[in-house]
Amino acid sequence: MKNVFIFLGPPGSGKGTQTSRLAKELNFPHIDTGSLLRQNIKQQTPYGVEAKKYMDKGQLVPIEIVQNIIFERLKQEDAKNGYILDGYPRSIEQAYALEKIHDNLKEYWNDEGANVVAVYFDVPNEKLVERLVNRRSCPACGEIYNLLNKKPKNENLCDKCSVELIQRSDDNEETAKLRFETYNKETKPLLQYFEDKGNLKTINADQEIEEVWVELLKVVK
Ligand code: AMP
Repeated sequence: MKNVFIFLGPPGSGKGTQTSRLAKELNFPHIDTGSLLRQNIKQQTPYGVEAKKYMDKGQLVPIEIVQNIIFERLKQEDAKNGYILDGYPRSIEQAYALEKIHDNLKEYWNDEGANVVAVYFDVPNEKLVERLVNRRSCPACGEIYNLLNKKPKNENLCDKCSVELIQRSDDNEETAKLRFETYNKETKPLLQYFEDKGNLKTINADQEIEEVWVELLKVVK
């Protein structure tokens, strides 16, 4: 049975940074709906044009768009043996939809299906806005930095590509607050959903990046 990790946590909880590292460690793809949607916006696909309206307001993009994007991504060969989902599912409705997708993928690959482990990145609310507004990323390789705890070596340049770092348009204080409201209303109930299924693991994500990494390895291996 393939392992599927679902990373849950509010915006700015450090899921993306840890997912990238774990993906390399396990040789699993890191599948992040936010990035897939931003790619669609960049390419101005019909999904991207529609998604942008919701993303600018810190709201969830309609489920049909996300389902289609994620299903197509999970059918790719590199996801055959397992994957890490970051930012999906983001509501109870999406969690049920994911169960259906997993049933469909079981048929598609003709395999035994998915063993799901949900990992919750726990960070106190008051730290989150500060983390988000200090977040920067490399538009070339996607590496994530933070001016508080993961600064680039040269000011505002990616350590790997030397490309100028950017700030996501929704990482401003106003949109960040709306994203937290959406998280609390739509996504937080997923903790109980996975707890009831007996597959929720919680880690303390309010620590140095290396310390979070050590805790993460303990729950995923
Ligand atoms: P993120 O990069 O995970 O912070 O996501 C950025 C934005 O993309 C969110 O505020 C939502 O508008 C949208 N988004 C990302 N993942 C999903 C999802 N699973 N369902 C609906 N909207 C999403």
